[in-house]
Amino acid sequence: MHNKTLIELSKGLQAREFSSVELTQHYLQRIQQYDSALNSFITVTEDRALAQAEAADQQIAAGNVGPLTGIPMAHKDIFCTEGVKTSCASKMLDNFIAPYNATVVEKLNAAGMPMLGKTNMDEFAMGSSNENSFYGPAHNPWDTGRVPGGSSGGSAAAVAARLTPFATATDTGGSIRQPAALCGITGLKPTYGRVSRYGMIAFASSLDQGGTMTVNAEDAALVLEAMAGFDERDSTSLEQAVPNYSSTLNDSLEGLKVGLPKEFFTDDLNPEIRSVLDEAIKVLEQQGAKIQEISLPNTGLAVPTYYVVAPAECSSNLSRFDGVRFGYRCDNPSDLEDLYKRSRGEAFGAEVKRRIMIGTYALSAGYYDAYYLKAQQIRHLISEDFKQAFNEVDVILGPVSPSTAFKLGEKTDDPVSMYLSDIYTLSLNLAGLPGMSIPAGFSAEKLPVGMQLIGNYFDEAKLLNVAHRFQQETNWHQSAPELVEG
Ligand code: GLN
Repeated sequence: MHNKTLIELSKGLQAREFSSVELTQHYLQRIQQYDSALNSFITVTEDRALAQAEAADQQIAAGNVGPLTGIPMAHKDIFCTEGVKTSCASKMLDNFIAPYNATVVEKLNAAGMPMLGKTNMDEFAMGSSNENSFYGPAHNPWDTGRVPGGSSGGSAAAVAARLTPFATATDTGGSIRQPAALCGITGLKPTYGRVSRYGMIAFASSLDQGGTMTVNAEDAALVLEAMAGFDERDSTSLEQAVPNYSSTLNDSLEGLKVGLPKEFFTDDLNPEIRSVLDEAIKVLEQQGAKIQEISLPNTGLAVPTYYVVAPAECSSNLSRFDGVRFGYRCDNPSDLEDLYKRSRGEAFGAEVKRRIMIGTYALSAGYYDAYYLKAQQIRHLISEDFKQAFNEVDVILGPVSPSTAFKLGEKTDDPVSMYLSDIYTLSLNLAGLPGMSIPAGFSAEKLPVGMQLIGNYFDEAKLLNVAHRFQQETNWHQSAPELVEG
């Protein structure tokens, strides 16, 4: 059952080939069997999942169904889930039971999807390897000695290992696309404002966006239809109707203009990834796509710009974790200041502290103009680069990550080398554009390689269309890793 796509599962449920309870039990059993080697879940909500599955079975029996009714899924542990621990992979929230549901959680509940549990991630979504989790790293199912990518490493590993057919994730600077690439699955980061951020614990509010981790683009289209849309509780969510993404998946690619940014295809790009992309480009050309070189001249400024803007916003967002209202509180504080200092000092991990310090410094009087304001100006230039490019092409194609999955521990002592691995993903978030990572091949070591597709604002439909047509011609997305029992 776990090799079926969401569409196939939906058909199976409606034809009564299996029930939602059976399907949910099947995935829960796989989690039990394989997740001790992967650590992709922080919390497994077995009882709740089975109760939701029973309710879905009743709906199916009553003929009152939508396309997702009864299909189990998992949420990144950054989405607030009422009555269920929502930790953001931090000691700070290890005792936090969310009192309400994120809008995304509400919507998927309403769609009838039982929740299997909450997936592992980098603490407060800061990282590119999932090694910054309070609960220990998630492991890449293709090679458990390697990272699954981050910050949504648990969601990517769980979908790749077929422990869930779909997981939510968030992307502030690449956290959907990079782990999707490193784990060989399909990740979609929608346009900023497309999916509500209400109840999604904030890292960098002007960059954060929720999205999907699935096996293929067809499934991504289906779940995005259920997740997206205006939410009056999120002032940055945009009032735009949600298209029927599934209906344009098969549109012809004849004459589609695909841009290759010359700044992405340099000698720094690993040759194996380059050759995988060259082959993938041919597949699109065979379908009538026209390839042309474009330029995104400010690409080299994306890493320094992001690593000012994101820490600045996080230093402000994370000030709410003060040991007073919720979350971790230190023992026996001597006074209020001691309470703040020790609660935060004891509960935040090293990377989170590093970012809070960088951000506080960048926002401080005297440095604000030099760092934060400058970064905002460059952010504007980066958006302009894309605007220019989309005058010439329909989609932009490139790598997702400069390398395939790296070994656990390989970059933990060198935060700058970790930051540099975000080079191809950050600029999209700075501009607010949608992007996807889809499986495009394997390295000689049999590690997945992803291909990134970047679309214009609110053009998720085009990305899904290109990805789907590519997946009709290739079967990279169907390869699944061999799992070891934990
Ligand atoms: N790797 C980037 C960072 O560490 C992006 C994280 C994300 O998208 N949440 O900030």
